[in-house]
Amino acid sequence: MATDILTMAYDDILAIVTSLGFPSFRAKQLYHWLNKGASFDEMNNLPKTFKEALAENGYFVDLPKIEKKLVSQIDGTVKLLYSLSDGQYIESVVMKYEHGNTICVSCQAGCRMGCKFCASTLRGLSRNLTPSEIIGQIFMAQRSIGERISNIVMMGIGEPLDNYDNVIKFLHAVNREEGLNIGYRHISLSTCGVVDGIKKLEKEMLPITLSISLHNIDTEGRKSIMPITNKWSVEELLSACAEYFKATGRRISFEYTLIADENDSIPQAEELARGLKRFLPGMPIHVNLIPLNDVSERSYKKSTAKNIEAFKNRLNGLGINATVRRRLGPDINASCGQLRLNAQEQ
Ligand code: SAH
Repeated sequence: MATDILTMAYDDILAIVTSLGFPSFRAKQLYHWLNKGASFDEMNNLPKTFKEALAENGYFVDLPKIEKKLVSQIDGTVKLLYSLSDGQYIESVVMKYEHGNTICVSCQAGCRMGCKFCASTLRGLSRNLTPSEIIGQIFMAQRSIGERISNIVMMGIGEPLDNYDNVIKFLHAVNREEGLNIGYRHISLSTCGVVDGIKKLEKEMLPITLSISLHNIDTEGRKSIMPITNKWSVEELLSACAEYFKATGRRISFEYTLIADENDSIPQAEELARGLKRFLPGMPIHVNLIPLNDVSERSYKKSTAKNIEAFKNRLNGLGINATVRRRLGPDINASCGQLRLNAQEQ
């Protein structure tokens, strides 16, 4: 059986190395290299016989390959297109903030959530990414930019809670001191509202930041842009959020993409403020307003600057902390799953 060992825990590596008849210090060396995101070729203090034994028994390291790198001349944002060993394409984006470099990673090749305004879901889901393919984006990006990445947002292609087990393995792996050593508090996970996943995540007790893509607080209105709402109503989603906050003490943030004539009216802002306060009493609420990025295959239009400002002010006036997300890398179309779509078509 072929097994990718890149993100394995030390005890599992030790068991493999021992089973192949090698001494335990080789396990330590191998584990050290794996946590640096090295390929077998780069593990230069390991004997060839050892690497061959691993390979012959189906153990491998499979890092995504960078196919394209776009750098914004405006703000230094870097957008990377990677190919995977089976020909799939994925993307990530590195954003340069004062508090350090933040990477937005993909967790699936495609997506099956079907949000109507989103480019990642246009061709459905091809497959889940392995933990190595998720963490591999960070190793490769760090090498490419020559700088450390200190923050992660799971807001790239895919729905993290639809690839639950691999995402949890990835989170444990990035947190390792021997490896990327990125603290859970520096990681945000964004979901379109997979309620059973939120309930499972709560039990993991990881101090990451959970972010909910809400986009409409009215169940019927939300159904028309986010099909996941047919499975779980907004009431069920926000109840799960309240429960999550109670159990973990971790504040949840909300994303709200503003779409003209769909979810950007003042009464909708008022309903949003009222609903969030009602469902999440005692939780400091932050709403991240995102101006819609145009996706040529979709007919939705972004809200006007005037409406965005009015929506934000109304929320603030009702005691909800709301900010408008600055658009990074506008010259390289840094958001969306567009690079992947173009690469796939070629
Ligand atoms: N599946 C996860 C994470 C990926 S998307 C989720 O749904 O949260 C990251 C964010 O970008 C989500 O809030 C998503 O709704 C939003 N988004 C998707 N397409 C967009 C577009 N065209 N314009 C603006 N935001 C978009």
